[in-house]
Amino acid sequence: MVSYVELGLVNTVELFKKAVSGGYALPAYNFNNLEQLQAIIMACVETKSPVILQVSAGARKYANQNLLKNMAKGAVEYAHELGCDIPIVLHLDHGDTLELCKDCIESGFSSVMIDGSHHSFEDNIALTKKVVEFAHSRKDYVTVEGELGVLAGVEDDVSSEHSNYTQPEEVEEFVKKTGVDSLAISIGTSHGRTKFKPEQCTRDANGVLIPPPLRFDILEEIEKRIPGFPIVLHGSSSVPMEYVHMIEKFGGHLKDSVGIPEEQLRKAAKSAVCKINIDSDGRLAMTALIRKVLAEQSEEFDPRKILGPARDELKKLYAHKNNNVLGSAGRV
Ligand SMILES: [Zn+2]
Repeated sequence: MVSYVELGLVNTVELFKKAVSGGYALPAYNFNNLEQLQAIIMACVETKSPVILQVSAGARKYANQNLLKNMAKGAVEYAHELGCDIPIVLHLDHGDTLELCKDCIESGFSSVMIDGSHHSFEDNIALTKKVVEFAHSRKDYVTVEGELGVLAGVEDDVSSEHSNYTQPEEVEEFVKKTGVDSLAISIGTSHGRTKFKPEQCTRDANGVLIPPPLRFDILEEIEKRIPGFPIVLHGSSSVPMEYVHMIEKFGGHLKDSVGIPEEQLRKAAKSAVCKINIDSDGRLAMTALIRKVLAEQSEEFDPRKILGPARDELKKLYAHKNNNVLGSAGRV
């Protein structure tokens, strides 16, 4: 058994306190390979931003949990070497069982999410409470994120056809009975690159889909009921059209892509929303650059020359998010 403190990682308690009072959100970026991790750390050191490294159950299967854990440990040393000891959290994204959460906590994660949002309200409380009791009883306090409300869309092992907005009248009871450290809510964000069906959107003069706005009224109502409590937004990619177009230019097909406009996320980050999950945008940036290199340099077969430009683009994207969307830059 390893404690996250031995790996140089931190939990989310202090980071969320500062983020809520400072009016910004922490970036939560998923990783499952070397280039993604390099890009995240380079961008967050450059912008002096704390960061939450997220590992999904799918990433654990893909890359092996021991490798990922040791990569996170390496990330702490890498940030130090780059000249800034940014706080780094290693977080399980969408844990679905007590066993999975325990396993991650015992192998060095500093934070876990238990997603009981597909269960009944009562069962969600019971499951979340069990994870909280285990996580909080550790010598080094591990933080727990719960979820109320269901997001639509598909991402790794998480998928749901329909969304259910979080019901503000449930949040107080959920937070009180479970003891969670933060709460993921559903106010219109969604997993994946097609966040809304075309019929839910309007179109601008160029035919580009304009999504319906986030439900800030629900967010405000939740904030009133649990003032200052850390709120989390999942599925918060903006799906930049420049990447979608680049992917399509070089042979891809990403019909009806639509994300959450960055100005809406910026507005959310200024509220009690203190953690914003962004994954699809990173996938799009990497895929766009990989396709471009493969199309334009047909004789290239060195993976470093193919993945290197993708990594550089990802770094640029994440620095932009920290600076202009989340407001987490300069908060170390
Ligand atoms: Zn999610």
